[in-house]
This record gives sequence, C-alpha cells and structure tokens, in this order.
Amino acid sequence: KAKETSGSKIEFYSSDLNEKISNQFVLENNLWFALDKNELFLQYQPIIDIEKNEIIAAEVLLRWDNDKLGLIPPDKFIPIAEESNLIVPIGQWILKTACYQNKMWQDIGLKPITIAVNISVKQLEQEDFPELVEEILNETRLDPQYLELEITESISAKNIEDIIKILKKLSNLGVKLSIDDFGTGYSSLGQLKKLFIDKLKIDKSFVNDINEDLDNTAIVSTIIAMANILNLKVVAEGIETQNQLSFLKENSCHMGQGYLFSRPLDGDAFEELLKRKK
Ligand code: C2E
Ligand code: MG
Ligand code: MG
Ligand code: MG
Repeated sequence: KAKETSGSKIEFYSSDLNEKISNQFVLENNLWFALDKNELFLQYQPIIDIEKNEIIAAEVLLRWDNDKLGLIPPDKFIPIAEESNLIVPIGQWILKTACYQNKMWQDIGLKPITIAVNISVKQLEQEDFPELVEEILNETRLDPQYLELEITESISAKNIEDIIKILKKLSNLGVKLSIDDFGTGYSSLGQLKKLFIDKLKIDKSFVNDINEDLDNTAIVSTIIAMANILNLKVVAEGIETQNQLSFLKENSCHMGQGYLFSRPLDGDAFEELLKRKK
C-alpha cells in the first residue's frame, strides 16, 4: 500500500513486513547521527526504599527525540541500536552522562543516591567493558558504590564463562549489579550468586498482576522470599497502585519503582524532587 509521505521522505509500496524492514532501515540510518545531533537524552525514574518511603536510587532511561520522526520509544530503537552495535558508543555516552549527573547532584549537597544504568549484552561482551567503566568512574570521580548496572537475564544463555569473568571484574570495581526483568528469562535464583549479582528487579508484568492473578502473585512473594534467603536485594518495578504497594510491603520487598511514585523525569525535574525530599 502507498504511504503518505512528505518532502524528502522515501515512498514505500510494501507489505507489512517490508514496511517494517523499511522502518527499521529509516530508524537505523537516523540513529547513526542521533548522538552527534544531540537527539539523545536521559530521564531518571526514582527508586524508593519501601519501608522508609525515601528515594534511594534512580533508573536511567534513554530517550530519542528526532526532528522528523519525533519521540521514539526505547522498545523500538534499542533493539536496532543493539543489532547495529551502535549501542556500544551510545551506551558509553549514557554511562558517562549518568555518572557525571549523579556526581554533580552529590557535589551540590543532595543526599547521595545510586544511579542504575541499563547495560545491553552487546556492551557486556566487549572485553574491555570493565576498563571502560573504571575509566568513566575515574573521570567523573563518582564513588563506584553509587553506580549500579542493570543486566537482563538473557546473559545466562550466551558465552557464559566470558561474561562471568567480566561480571567479576565489574563487581571488584565496587559497582553493584542487578538482574532486570527478573522472572521473564531462564536464570535460576541459585545461579545468580555465581554471577556476582547484588539485586533483582521483579519484572513489571508480575507486579501488575498482584491481587489479580493468583499464580503471578505467588511468584512475586516467592521471588522476594528466596531473594531474602540468598541475601539479594529486591526491587519491584512497575508499581502503579496502592494495593500492589501494600502487598509488596507486607512481603518485605525492599525497593519499588513505578508510576505510583513517579514517572521517569528529566534531569532538572528529578533534581527538584530530590531537593524537596531533602
Ligand atoms: P526496563 O529497564 O525494564 O525499564 C523499565 C521500563 O518500565 C521503562 O520503560 C519505564 O518507563 C517503565 N515503567 C516504569 N514504571 C512503570 C509503571 O508503573 N508502569 C508501566 N507500565 N511502565 C513503567 P522505557 O523507558 O520505555 O524503557 C523500556 C526498556 O528499554 C527498558 O526496560 C530497557 O530494557 C530499555 N532501555 C531503556 N533505556 C535504556 C538504556 O539506556 N540502555 C539500554 N541498553 N536499554 C535501555
Ligand atoms: Mg532497567
Ligand atoms: Mg525492567
Ligand atoms: Mg524491560
């Protein structure tokens, strides 16, 4: 079918599949220049200590605002950034920017918080990744204990031995490691200790089902109980209702993140929030 196009844009006459491929092509072509054109920026979503009701961390979330394509959601462009390896330079920029930002907040006297940065497998597979992280910590002078790296469960599939070495080096630097979207992949809780993991983030699909779906509610309380036995911290992501929060509190979940507390915020807005909570 023919698509409405304007000006310089290419016209597509294609099936849905072809259209999808063309769209990805357009996204990738634009993504190559996104960093240089200053189209990428970071948002920060508060992570709350559930018992104390205090902000103790922030997850860093990448945003892409292109002049022609508009605001593109990460679920659309992160996979493309990964396939094209663009995630490697972009990921480095994210780490450096987030560490600078966090150090700056500490330098102006705000309560120190941890900054949690999503790391893609492609970045972890770079042999010199731990050295890169170390360089960034030295350059930004951020104390490593205030940096956390979120990795997904898919790591447990690929060249596990190499990844374990890298995770060990990272852990030795003093940065924290967490497993993102826990429950959606294959890793067993027992395995996590071997991966130098400090923290689990329960996937929002389970949190969303609390009190709605019996199985998923049981999964949430079981993950929390097992994590406590293994001495791992637990964050529940995607908390949207007071009911979900109450359940998590009763089940001794340490930390929470979700629209109930706050949406992801631009740096300035997050800073204001931290100042108000001081
Ligand atoms: P994620 O790491 O699991 O991030 C959490 C996602 O849940 C974010 O979506 C966040 O905005 C959303 N979220 C937070 N609270 C709620 C809630 O209460 N309800 C609902 N429905 N959603 C909530 P976002 O920003 O669209 O990011 C999607 C995914 O893209 C992330 O999932 C992560 O896998 C990836 N991503 C985002 N930023 C980066 C990055 O800097 N680097 C890499 N490698 N991946 C990133
Ligand atoms: Mg994450
Ligand atoms: Mg997640
Ligand atoms: Mg996710």
